[in-house]
Amino acid sequence: MGIIKKDIRALTKDQLREFFVNEGDKAFRGNQVYEWLWQKSAHSFDDMTNLSKSTRQMLENNFTINHIKVDTMQRSNDGTVKNAVRLHDGLVVESVLIPTESRTTACVSSQVGCSLDCRFCATARLKRMRNLNPDEIYDQVVAIDQESRLYHNRPLSNIVFMGMGEPLMNYNNVLKAIDKITSPEGLGMSPKRIVVSTSGVPKMIKKMADDSVKFKLAVSLHSAIDEVRDTIMPFNKTFPLKDLREALQYWYTKTKNRITYEYVVWKGINDRRIDVEALVRFCKFAPSKVNLIEYNPIDDGEFQQANPEAIDMYQRVLEANSITVTIRRSRGKDIDAACGQLANKK
Ligand code: SAH
Repeated sequence: MGIIKKDIRALTKDQLREFFVNEGDKAFRGNQVYEWLWQKSAHSFDDMTNLSKSTRQMLENNFTINHIKVDTMQRSNDGTVKNAVRLHDGLVVESVLIPTESRTTACVSSQVGCSLDCRFCATARLKRMRNLNPDEIYDQVVAIDQESRLYHNRPLSNIVFMGMGEPLMNYNNVLKAIDKITSPEGLGMSPKRIVVSTSGVPKMIKKMADDSVKFKLAVSLHSAIDEVRDTIMPFNKTFPLKDLREALQYWYTKTKNRITYEYVVWKGINDRRIDVEALVRFCKFAPSKVNLIEYNPIDDGEFQQANPEAIDMYQRVLEANSITVTIRRSRGKDIDAACGQLANKK
């Protein structure tokens, strides 16, 4: 009968120190191991070369390191890289490296599959299997950082939680991962370079405000009219726009952080004048930025990108109302790495 080994990265630094004391060793040993696990991202106990052989063996007997494995790696002709990430239990998620002239962004997953049901998103077709652990989120970032150094000769500069899953439905683990990513004992990245993107879970947006988080918030809005949003993002029936808006108002009052909205304009769905007018009314309460995202087709054409005239109209009306607009071109389409295309096609 084998004992069930514990995931060593589920332990805090204090718990690791305590473990060593109980083993009759020095608490300091815990610090050494902690550094190997996080800052140095060790894949195995054998990598921990400043520990004695017997200490490494003892750790091996008690714990596992559930490090991710980057299974396949596809490179797009625009420099985008997609990682299929195999987890210790065999499940797979995806993460993406997106290079621009000035930065490298990691787009990471927070769940295996997704429990939301956005009709235009490929990940929604996979049911939610489980939440990712903090170390599994952290590992995705480390992998992209290494690829960025390898292919672009520079470290990773930004992170967006826009891969598979709804980060606010795995809030505690996402927060723990971000703690490690921003800690000097982890990657030491600035929280200002991290964006958490949500479909809008009002209760959790308020919690983020109460927790005084330092990262940025983006909301996938796509429509400011309930009847329209209900049809494209059916969970909107549970969390209607009025509740979302109230939560965002709370967020803004507490954090004074500008809110970014992600928005795709589709033909015949939200490309009317009244759609953009509703959007203007919705964002009025706080300084806002609207990212108009290009649609990445995922199926037989139920959804189609709106005409350029509709996008122009959005841009004109928003700017006339002092709302910042950016138009975001998709990257990595040829390898199914663009927004909403992550679904383990294989
Ligand atoms: N669940 C989170 C994060 C994952 S989705 C959220 O909803 O924000 C990341 C972004 O991609 C969201 O803004 C989402 O609405 C958008 N998206 C999903 N499918 C898309 C598609 N087919 N084309 C373009 N953007 C898409």
